Amino acid sequence: GTSEPWRDFDRSQVYTADLESALHYLLRVELAAHGTLEGAELKVFKDFVTLVAKLYPVGGSVAKLMETLSDWLLSLPLQQIPYQAVLDLVDNKMKISGVFLGAELRWVGCQGSRLGLRGYPCSLWTLFHVLTVQHDAAPAALDGSGLEGEAAPVLQVMRRYIRTFFGCKECGRHFEQAAAASMDQVTSGEDEVLWLWTQHNRVNTRLAGSLSDDPVSPKAPWPSPALCPACHEESNGVHVWNQANVLAFLRRHYGASNLNPRYSL
Ligand code: FAD
Repeated sequence: GTSEPWRDFDRSQVYTADLESALHYLLRVELAAHGTLEGAELKVFKDFVTLVAKLYPVGGSVAKLMETLSDWLLSLPLQQIPYQAVLDLVDNKMKISGVFLGAELRWVGCQGSRLGLRGYPCSLWTLFHVLTVQHDAAPAALDGSGLEGEAAPVLQVMRRYIRTFFGCKECGRHFEQAAAASMDQVTSGEDEVLWLWTQHNRVNTRLAGSLSDDPVSPKAPWPSPALCPACHEESNGVHVWNQANVLAFLRRHYGASNLNPRYSL
């Protein structure tokens, strides 16, 4: 709400509270717009849950919940699942394990300076950056999941999730265009990490100065020279990225050891 206290945070870290809030919002708000999950939609949701269950980088109750949800979805012979059944399972598991997946939404690195800014879309980007880095670091985690055969499984699942469920339809159209243009060229975990980074910067550039731009966290090419000096170079007076250093930076920034549990469950 508007009266929430400001939470101090460090822009060089990634907060598990943002990842948990992303999943909370996704499961309880975004999905709620779909009364029944069936057919292609159900498949997209199953793949998303499987991906997170396999690649979520920290153990604990959230990882456990996603695994339980994934096992349950895969064991169901049903062609359609009422959204309420998903919600019941989430609520039940939460009661049993004594946790409440973000009984409130707790944005930290994704805090907006006022209501309506940042929050969920920021946390969804963050979640998928984390998943690309995790997949690059440990590709075998997807073995046996049914997703291991795809060339760029994290990006493909993200693409299908965004197209099918993301509440911002205009965002979905933009992302789909970008995916159609170049996602098929991505064939390694490294490329996945860099493709998502490039795409995110394109969106930042497009949105800089727009209504969704938070003055406290202005949209700009990322990482800034302050965050990663070695990522930036000049060639004949023109700014260029040092891709090798960007990749190293992304691996570190979104890697498991840079996750900060502060404000988390
Ligand atoms: P965000 O852009 O959400 O970034 C979150 C955090 O990620 C930043 O604070 C930073 O720490 C880090 N970050 C920033 N850039 C990069 C990068 N290049 N690589 C890795 N990490 C980075 N909004 C629209 O109005 N139109 C659109 O077409 C649109 N498309 C979207 C498509 C997708 C797939 C998603 C998830 C969101 C989209 N949005 C779109 C929302 C928009 O991109 C922002 O998420 C939202 O405006 C909140 O912005 P933010 O300032 O919190 O930063």
